[in-house]
Amino acid sequence: MENDYTLRQVAENASKACYICYRPSAHVLIDKSNTDFFYICKSHLTDKGFATRVDPPVDTAAIEAELKKKQLEAEKEKVKKEWEDAQKKKSDKNEEEKDKEDAEKVKEMILKDKKLPEPEPVPESRKYTLHPTIYTQRVRQKKELAAAKKRAEHIKTMQFPGVPKGLPGEKKEEQDEKKDDGGEGEGKEV
Ligand SMILES: [Zn+2]
Repeated sequence: MENDYTLRQVAENASKACYICYRPSAHVLIDKSNTDFFYICKSHLTDKGFATRVDPPVDTAAIEAELKKKQLEAEKEKVKKEWEDAQKKKSDKNEEEKDKEDAEKVKEMILKDKKLPEPEPVPESRKYTLHPTIYTQRVRQKKELAAAKKRAEHIKTMQFPGVPKGLPGEKKEEQDEKKDDGGEGEGKEV
């Protein structure tokens, strides 16, 4: 057993109680040696008191996407403001209502053009190290479980050497069919 866990996802219908909060989860942490595993909500994985990402994937793509998003947001704000200022000036000049409507359309087009890109799905980090306290707990539980199993085995072999096969009082019913054997061949006429 190693404090080197990998996050796996199972089918939704294979969800089991989370190790921490007992709510059903389809995420499983499995240790490197495959001796320990448990279900866990993804939300706990961001809790440093529970586990730490081993290979925080410095996801440059995600970071860039986030940055771009912010830039676009700022740009959008700027365009909007510029437009509003322009509108203000226009309305000061008492422009026609139709002009305004057209302007609105153009504005929409500009904003549409600046549509935010869909954020790239960030690949999930797969490696975690459990917090020492949690890991110790896992190890202890694993040991206790093993010991309990051993005890159970031991008790089984000690006290129940074998279940008798035929229970007393159980009779086979043999009287149903009496076999008349060879009735024809018996009576020989002399
Ligand atoms: Zn949980």
